[in-house]
Amino acid sequence: MTAQPAGGISGRLAAVRERIEAACRRAGRDATSVTLVAVSKGWPAEAVTRAWEAGIRDFGENRVQEGTAKASALAAAGIRPVWHLIGNLQTNKVRPAVQTFDILHAVDSERLLRAIAAAADSPVRMMIEVNVSGEPTKHGIAPAGLPGLLHAARSLPLARVEGLMTVAPLSPDPEDSRPVFRRLGDLGREHGLPLLSMGMTGDFDVAIEEGATHVRIGRALFGERPA
Ligand SMILES: *Cc1c(COP(=O)(O)O)cnc(C)c1O
Repeated sequence: MTAQPAGGISGRLAAVRERIEAACRRAGRDATSVTLVAVSKGWPAEAVTRAWEAGIRDFGENRVQEGTAKASALAAAGIRPVWHLIGNLQTNKVRPAVQTFDILHAVDSERLLRAIAAAADSPVRMMIEVNVSGEPTKHGIAPAGLPGLLHAARSLPLARVEGLMTVAPLSPDPEDSRPVFRRLGDLGREHGLPLLSMGMTGDFDVAIEEGATHVRIGRALFGERPA
């Protein structure tokens, strides 16, 4: 891991944007095709406010309760970012989740799809989490289960599946993530899903080269999370 550049959130944001632009150049992509989702989990609302002031507009949280609390605190100050739920969702938290979050990245079961459709008043944007690597400890549906899940979603008008999401196995070498990201891109094309949420602090450059439309970046923007 490279050292954090100096300069607080603005300096770190500039460094991340440079890396995004460099990866886009290598891949022949337009930088506007990549949404930077700043992962603010573990950080207080004040840190999110500073990031907003630095120009970030999309934030990711992996817990419903933490995300709704921060979203309310910011809304009270007139700040309304795009909120992404990047973590696994339990069926009993679906109602607050669809009320707070603009897009859900980690839907991975038909049961959850149905619960979301039942709790929603308007179409819910979402991505399906795929366990590409097959690690038993990971959330996400197996690639083989994807056609069935997408078939179920087509009968639920309020469940608007727009893309796929994955988390690559932890590794010090970002190149280890490439086959996982490439497979997710193939699955997205195969099923006509335009959005790909993949890439974190350690491997987002590779994810962009493989077609990521959403990169989920925490530590490179905020620093190491407080314990
Ligand atoms: C925490 C988290 C991230 C961000 O990880 P960093 O290494 O801090 O960039 C991305 N995606 C998910 C699903 C996460 O839980």
